[in-house]
Amino acid sequence: PTTPQLIPSLIESAASAIQSHAEEVTALDQAIGDGDHVVNLQRGLGALSKQAESLAALEWPAALQQIGMTLMASVGGASGSLYGTLFIAMGKAMKGREMNPANLAEAFSQGVEAMKARGKAERGEKTMLDVLIPVADVLKSAAEHAIAPGQLAEEVSRAAEAGMESTRDMLATKGRASFLGERVIGHVDAGARSSQLMISAIAEVLS
Ligand code: ADP
Ligand code: MG
Ligand code: MG
Repeated sequence: PTTPQLIPSLIESAASAIQSHAEEVTALDQAIGDGDHVVNLQRGLGALSKQAESLAALEWPAALQQIGMTLMASVGGASGSLYGTLFIAMGKAMKGREMNPANLAEAFSQGVEAMKARGKAERGEKTMLDVLIPVADVLKSAAEHAIAPGQLAEEVSRAAEAGMESTRDMLATKGRASFLGERVIGHVDAGARSSQLMISAIAEVLS
């Protein structure tokens, strides 16, 4: 089974996915937001990198909770409290459970539900939830059908990409972009793009 020993490489893969698309994602947040999304994420990923070894020494529930608290304290912006909420809820859901595909799927779903409640948002509002919700659905159905890790990574990446693309033609009803009305049509949401990049990078490490 997957151990928290993987945490440093998971953080590293997410950070390098953001690093290599920094200009593109910044441009997306400049187009319909305030342009700070990459800087916000990099602050959080940098804080996690510094803790990588100590996170790897924890059990999954404590590690996920610590990741959430670090993101909450370091990222800032709308995305900071939302990602913090996601990981803290995942840690809570993993308490007393072993890490396996079914428990991970359940914990991720609960994390996404907590994020939805925290941001009072749903699918279809041009946010990172348009990526996270379909990914949660794929993880749950994969756990039910005992899909091989390589195939799961592919399905997760495909769902994340489709979700990210789906934000392009949506109106925004949450966050700063909601003040721009029709002007947001044609622009992918920055948080949807960054979450898709990080999820695909993490899925590849886990496959
Ligand atoms: P800020 O908007 O405060 O500058 P960021 O730029 O770091 O924060 O993050 C913006 C991203 O956060 C958006 O692109 C969107 O994906 C996501 N977001 C904003 N509000 C919500 C919400 N209520 N629910 C889910 N995601 C949200
Ligand atoms: Mg922003
Ligand atoms: Mg901001």
